[in-house]
Amino acid sequence: MDFQPDANLQVFREEVRAFITSRVPKELTGLPRCTRSPRDQVLRWQKLLSEQGWSAPYWPKEHGGNGWTVQQQLIFDEECVAHGTPTLDGFVHTLLGPVLNVFATQEQRDEHLPAVFRGERLWCQGFSEPGSGSDLASLKTRAVRDGDHYVVNGQKIWTSYAHEADWIFLLVRTDTEVKKQAGISFLLVDMKSPGVSVRPIRSIDDAHHLNETFFDNVRVPVTNLVGTEGQGWAITKFLLNNEHAFAADLPALRRYMRELREFASKLPVDGTPLIERPEFALKLARLDAELQAIGMLVQRVAQLEQRHDPSSPILGSMLKMRGTELQQRLTEAQVEALGSYGAVAYAHPHAEAPERPYPLQQLARGIANDMFFRRASTIYGGTSEVQRGIIVKMLFQL
Ligand SMILES: Cc1cc2nc3c(=O)[nH]c(=O)nc-3n(C[C@H](O)[C@H](O)[C@H](O)COP(=O)(O)OP(=O)(O)OC[C@H]3O[C@@H](n4cnc5c(N)ncnc54)[C@H](O)[C@@H]3O)c2cc1C
Repeated sequence: MDFQPDANLQVFREEVRAFITSRVPKELTGLPRCTRSPRDQVLRWQKLLSEQGWSAPYWPKEHGGNGWTVQQQLIFDEECVAHGTPTLDGFVHTLLGPVLNVFATQEQRDEHLPAVFRGERLWCQGFSEPGSGSDLASLKTRAVRDGDHYVVNGQKIWTSYAHEADWIFLLVRTDTEVKKQAGISFLLVDMKSPGVSVRPIRSIDDAHHLNETFFDNVRVPVTNLVGTEGQGWAITKFLLNNEHAFAADLPALRRYMRELREFASKLPVDGTPLIERPEFALKLARLDAELQAIGMLVQRVAQLEQRHDPSSPILGSMLKMRGTELQQRLTEAQVEALGSYGAVAYAHPHAEAPERPYPLQQLARGIANDMFFRRASTIYGGTSEVQRGIIVKMLFQL
């Protein structure tokens, strides 16, 4: 494995930086950190990327993407995070998009992808239900065929950003008579359809990311079925198996570490900066060593994915588990480093600035919220316990 910096990648990094500094309006850079930017920013950012010819940074050329290598994609993400640009709509770029590229009809692609690239359409993911999270195949939302339509009834939960989405990709049960996995289908549903309603769930970070989504006799054209009836589970497995190199969210981890060093060295806690206390310096060194290890693993996975190596699913689970656990420890250490400013910083990053300024205010805002929200990162996208189960099963061929 080669860990030497690649000169071509450095040129690519400069190209991304040049784009961000020269073509992106000031108000769309230096944004406070968040897991997802507000709708208007996500849409404007997408439009800007498309104008640059970078409409699908993670897709291969044959599917209308940029054709970047996994390393280039990681560099793109890292520069975006470092410059505080808005987030992309991850649901379409990393989940739905690859599914449409492989399983959808040309009509379905023509209907949805141009609208996404023009920055006009956001998506959300309707998989989980009350009682069907890790055990997703037990889902109960029903879709019954009625002529040219399916009639959908049921409830989804934890539907991130459903309140801002135009469309939802949905797992539904179309057959109750077969093995549970075989009775699931994959539908695309317009959120404006009569019978769709969204109820907010406020999370521990005092923000509105999550929702319950209800379907009450929602009529969905049969032409919105992706793949064939009953193929939903195979499509889901394909979708969840994508992009392991991104599972750890390395750019975010690196940003957390940079900020942590800055807080620990600049903010006095009870008179001295934390970095001068040996126990905190040791903690920082340990966190940094873990970050370096994750960085190397990401490089390894990136190289394997580039070669389509079949062993990467285990590494993907390892990265999801270790990366999200490190996110939690880094954000906890950040709150600790903020000392008494931690409580002041408990303001949503998009809220008005507090009247009395405090040191590193711009950086420190939203830290405590983020620390709280990151409690969820070892749950969404497959819990740490489930990842451990996958690793063991694959290692021991169970
Ligand atoms: C912030 C956030 C955003 C989310 N966004 C979305 C979204 O946009 N769309 C969507 O569809 N879903 C979303 N989810 C749902 C997410 O996918 C589920 O929460 C997750 O799959 C876990 O399911 P569950 O909550 O039902 O917990 P359960 O599956 O009930 O798990 C409860 C506990 O049991 C453990 N457990 C379960 N099964 C096993 C097992 N086999 N072995 C060992 N331990 C096990 C789990 O690790 C956990 O600790 C989101 C969740 C969160 C927290």
